[in-house]
Amino acid sequence: MIFHAFLIKYAEIAIKGKNRYMFEDALVKQMRIALSKVEGEFEVKKEQGRVYVFCPEVYDFDEAVEALQKVFGIVGICPVVIYEDNGFDKMCEDVVSYMKNRYPDFSGSFKVYTRRAKKSYPIPSMEVSAKLGGAILDAFPEASVDVHEPDMTLSVEIRDKIYVYSETIKGPGGMPVGTNGKAMLLLSGGIDSPVAGYMIAKRGVKIDAVYFHAPPYTSERAKQKVVDLAKLVAKYSGPIRLHIVNFTDIQLYIYDKCPHEELTIIMRRYMMRIAEHFAKETGCLGMITGESIGQVASQTLHSLAATNEVCTLPVYRPVIGFDKQEIVEISKKIDTFETSILPFEDCCTIFVAKHPVTKPNLKVIHRSETKLEEKIEELMEEALKTTEVIEIS
Ligand code: ATP
Ligand code: MG
Repeated sequence: MIFHAFLIKYAEIAIKGKNRYMFEDALVKQMRIALSKVEGEFEVKKEQGRVYVFCPEVYDFDEAVEALQKVFGIVGICPVVIYEDNGFDKMCEDVVSYMKNRYPDFSGSFKVYTRRAKKSYPIPSMEVSAKLGGAILDAFPEASVDVHEPDMTLSVEIRDKIYVYSETIKGPGGMPVGTNGKAMLLLSGGIDSPVAGYMIAKRGVKIDAVYFHAPPYTSERAKQKVVDLAKLVAKYSGPIRLHIVNFTDIQLYIYDKCPHEELTIIMRRYMMRIAEHFAKETGCLGMITGESIGQVASQTLHSLAATNEVCTLPVYRPVIGFDKQEIVEISKKIDTFETSILPFEDCCTIFVAKHPVTKPNLKVIHRSETKLEEKIEELMEEALKTTEVIEIS
């Protein structure tokens, strides 16, 4: 069956009044970005409180649906067949032929729901539904009408043409990206941070990212893995500006000057400081990490508090209460898992101590950081200056 359009359903509860326009405009924008990667010219249009995608003559249905299933804010995707309006008798014929095509042996219960977007149409909606129901019953003698709990609802929208649909493919839900500001994701090559980015983007937040690279201790392929992960997250979040910070000299300096069991904490404090610099520079209102309580020494409550202390922006940690398995499940669902488990070195693991502190004492950490006074400012500036920015789309 050839579908000419998709009717897009979105949750309307939270979006009354002015917000509704903002929501719909952001939705349309993200849909256009998603569909631009599918072959053919798709037209996304807002019409009388509905959002439609009009499809080109030739296109790949599955690819189009898959792209739309990554656009946050979409709750349902209804494939629509469009018929010319050539009078009511012709409409009955078309609806029966739709049914014969789509459900050749239909014997269940159904109802017809009619919506007249074109108010000038001469027959009232209820009457259209009743008559179309009659025509379907004539063509499918084993079918029955059930207006309360039908197996199938056939929807008919009367516009300048006649729109017919009967199925809703599930969308990802959430809010369209762009309706809720922007945040800076600390993206490593692991499993957790891409999932964290996805979860925050799902609430309508646009995302930029920062990755701390430590050549030659971390390879070009480790960096490529992060770029690949950013591309996978971008399928949902839309374009991401990925900042690649050369962190080697800062790490070596900390390694040289500070007690090794405090290395990870101090290093993470510098990561947050640098991430916050870029966050503020690019108008981000928060930062995102993939931290989860107790997962490693640097993620105990004490360690998280010590890392958090250097931040002035809010830090969002959407997987904070998840077990690893729960995070893995999401990463499989969003298709980042296979890339995340590729075995490349991470800057955190290379310089890690045998027995890292799990209850860092802030006074002690502050004292250790004073040992960095001589050169750290200069190294930070150098890291900011040499940061490479890649536009991921
Ligand atoms: P992930 O699976 O996301 O790598 P993890 O379990 O390995 O997380 P850590 O290495 O302690 O945990 O990192 C915690 C968080 O800090 C990560 O989720 C990420 O947000 C950030 N992070 C860690 N390493 C880097 C890095 N090299 N570049 C950017 N962010 C990082
Ligand atoms: Mg990691």
